[in-house]
This record gives sequence, structure tokens and C-alpha cells, in this order.
Amino acid sequence: MAREDYEAVMGLEVHSELSTKTKIFCSCPTKFGAEPNTQTCPICMAMPGTLPVLNEKVVEYAVKAGLATNCKISRDSKNDRKNYFYPDLPKSYQISQYDKPLCEKGYIEIEVNGNKKKIGITRIHIEEDAGKLNHDELGGGSLVDLNRAGVPLIEIVSEPDLRSTEEVEAYLKKLKSILEYIEVSDCKMQEGSFRADVNVSVRKKGDTKLGTRTEMKNMNSFRSITRGIEYEIERQIDVLENGGTVEQETLRWDDVSGRTFSMRDKEDAQDYRYFPEPDLVAIKLSEEYIQNIKNTLPELPESRKKRYLEEYKLSEKDAKIITSSKYLSDLFEGAIKVCKNPKAVNNLIISDISRILHETEIEPIEIPFDSNQLGKLVILLDKGTISSSIGKKVLEELFENPRDPEEIIQEKGWIQISDEGQIRQIVQKILEKNPQSVADYKSGKDRALGFLVGQAMKETKGKANPQLLNKMFLEEMK
Ligand code: ADP
Ligand code: MG
Ligand code: ZN
Repeated sequence: MAREDYEAVMGLEVHSELSTKTKIFCSCPTKFGAEPNTQTCPICMAMPGTLPVLNEKVVEYAVKAGLATNCKISRDSKNDRKNYFYPDLPKSYQISQYDKPLCEKGYIEIEVNGNKKKIGITRIHIEEDAGKLNHDELGGGSLVDLNRAGVPLIEIVSEPDLRSTEEVEAYLKKLKSILEYIEVSDCKMQEGSFRADVNVSVRKKGDTKLGTRTEMKNMNSFRSITRGIEYEIERQIDVLENGGTVEQETLRWDDVSGRTFSMRDKEDAQDYRYFPEPDLVAIKLSEEYIQNIKNTLPELPESRKKRYLEEYKLSEKDAKIITSSKYLSDLFEGAIKVCKNPKAVNNLIISDISRILHETEIEPIEIPFDSNQLGKLVILLDKGTISSSIGKKVLEELFENPRDPEEIIQEKGWIQISDEGQIRQIVQKILEKNPQSVADYKSGKDRALGFLVGQAMKETKGKANPQLLNKMFLEEMK
């Protein structure tokens, strides 16, 4: 059979760390990046005799996430113990939720190549994160850091509705932006606060039964997720084409070698010996409680996008890019308040800012400057105080060392030269140096003008007002 006769099927389990101030069962802080084991207490270190107390905020955030993804919120839910041994889990079990998750049966809508599709959300449940093992290359051992133990997570399990890497990426981006908008998680992928277990299987097109899946654990970049899926699809098709069967197993994707490795056979639910957590009471939510949370839900990306189309006349494509991230979208709206020029802010975000984000591989949330500074930059451009090429430099400066754009151009001497006398002098100097170009221009080669303007720009390090330059070159060569 040819490769085209197969269809890939993906389902994702996304773990997202909630941005509550304190952990799920104790009052230790959750801040990322602290010295190892400085954010721990007897509860999250699993000392005998300690008891967990559920952080109410965790329930609230999870319910928010459920409502924003069209889930039914369970009024009667509970915690369960998931038993397994790993050195970063000192209790030897994780408090999670098994048969009564907080949220069930939702969906989110994605769009790929203009086609809209609903991806089912099977469930969202709350659980605690494990600690982190740091493998010590010098000493040859492993050191455990329990700062992360007990950091609250929601796990969002999708239906096996995804059929391509494009759909997977669109789903993850949409989910990430929803969680950012409702402010329940900062979704920093490189810090692991938004990570996915990716389940992949293949089957013959037209088959109704799903093929056997493999699961790649803890993927935290779009690029490795796409590469991992592509690799698994190919690998599984090869196995089937050679008459073999795909083993259900847990895999580790290795970015360097570009392949997957088997970690272990897939555990079944029974391996985890789930049972109701005896140290916690059931979670009972009133209709009123759920309704109150519903009332506090902010504007979600879809409706912001619609508003941008109508209010600011953005193109569909630009509106989608800007609203894909709450931070970008807040930056956009904040800057407009300052400069009153939505088109210009839109253009800066779509072209230069997006390019820099891409090149430096930083996420919108990490943009170091604020909307006020961006708005002021647009004002300087609008007033002609700086040229657009200087505008790009100011933007780069804002990424490097954010401060008032006015201050940047003063300090760097980047103010546009718009003084006619000064510009005329520059023009005359360039004309004198380039008699051949002048002759070319006079014999009808319009391109020579562009060259001359370019020379003048070089001479002034991009500071000359381009309209004035053009005008004066034409006057002087008449
Ligand atoms: P576990 O926690 O044991 O991995 P779950 O049922 O919680 O099991 O999660 C299974 C995930 O795998 C879901 O996201 C689901 O959509 C996906 N999935 C299940 N079967 C398949 C399959 N045959 N192919 C691809 N994905 C699958
Ligand atoms: Mg799984
Ligand atoms: Zn603690």
C-alpha cells in the first residue's frame, strides 16, 4: 500500500501549570526558577503525617478553563491517588482525578487553510506536578529539586480528532491562547508550563477502527512536536508495511537524533491502582459558583478578532496573528490608546515585531517593552521625527534595553534630518561624487535616482528625510 493510503490520528494530553501564587495542597510559592528546594515544606516533600488541603483557586482556574473550552462542569467531583514510583515523586503517588474530572465533553474550534473544525475535549482534570530530577553529569548521580512538586496542573485531554501536524499545531496554539486570555496559566513552553503528551496512530483510510497508538511524553516546542509526529507516522507505516504490528508504548522524542526511543511499555489504568484520595473531601460546586465564574470570563480570542475586523478594519490574517496571543493583543490595544493609529501599530506588530520574535525565538509574553513605549514610537514615526528605517532600529533597541523611544533617539542621535538647507548640502555632495549616475539619470535611467538617494541615506546613516531627499535630487538635476 502507498503512504497516501494511510491516515494519521492524533490525540493530545496537555499539561498546563496554573499560575496560582501557591501550590495545590500547601502554601509554598510556585514561582519558577528559584534555588532548588527553597520552595518546599513538609507537605510537598511528603513527610509522614502531613495532610493536603486543596487550594480553592486551583478549582476556580480549572473551572474557568473548562468554561472557556465549552466543557460541562461537574458539580460533583473528587481527587484520586495515581500510584507510581519515580524519584521525583516522594509520596509515590500523585494526587490527580480519575473517574470524576472537574470538566468534561467540551471542544475548541480550530482553522486550518480556511477550514474550520471542532476538536473534542474529553476532559480537564486537576493534579499536582512532580519534582524535577537534575542529572549531575560530574558526580554521576541525580539530584532532586522539589520546588515543582505540588505545583498545580490542569490536564486537558483531547479526543483523537486531529489528522495532521497542521491541525495539531492549530489546536495547541488555540488552546494556549485561550489559557493565556483567561489568565490561568502563563503557558511558557520553554519553562515547561505548557507541555503535551502526543498520541499518534495510523490506519488505512476509510477504516473506522483506530490503530494502535504510541505516546511521546512531555513535548514542549511546536517544532519538536511536528517533527516527532512526522517521524512516528513514517515509522508506524513502515512497521505495518513490513507486516509488523505497532506496539502500544511510551516514547521519548530526541531532538538531536530526530527519532523516538522506547521508554517503557504503556501503562494501563490498572497499573496505577487508582483509588479515591482519602485525605481530601469531595469537590461539590453549586450552580451559582459556576455561574459566577462564567460571569468573570474575559473576552476570548475569537471575539477579539471579530472586533478588530470591524473596529480597526484589520485583515483577517493580521487579526488572527495579533489575537493569537493575549500579550500581543494587549500590546496592540495599549499602543493604539497612546498613538491613535491602529494601522501603524498593526504593521509594526505584523512585520518587524513578529520577525524579531521569530529570529530571537522569544514568545510574546517575554516582550520586554510596554504598549506605552510602542505607542510613542509610532508617534515619532507619524510626526516624521524619525524615518521608518530608524524606526526599525528603535524597535530593536526596545527589545534590547527598553526605555522611552524619545530618550533612545536623543541618546543615539537618530533624529531625522528634515532641515532643507542641510539636506541640500548633502544632495550636492553626493551629486559631485557621482557624475556618472547623474549622466545616467539624465539619459533616462530612472534607477540612478534610487542609487543617489541610497548614497545620501548611507552618508546620513539613515537619518535624512527620504521625501525631502527625493525632492531635492530632482530639483538639483533638472
Ligand atoms: P492515557 O492517560 O493512558 O494516555 P487517556 O485516555 O487519558 O490515556 O489519553 C489518551 C489520549 O490519547 C487522548 O488524547 C486520546 O485522544 C488519544 N488517543 C487514544 N487512542 C488513540 C489512537 N488510537 N490514536 C491516536 N490518539 C489516541
Ligand atoms: Mg497518556
Ligand atoms: Zn509545600
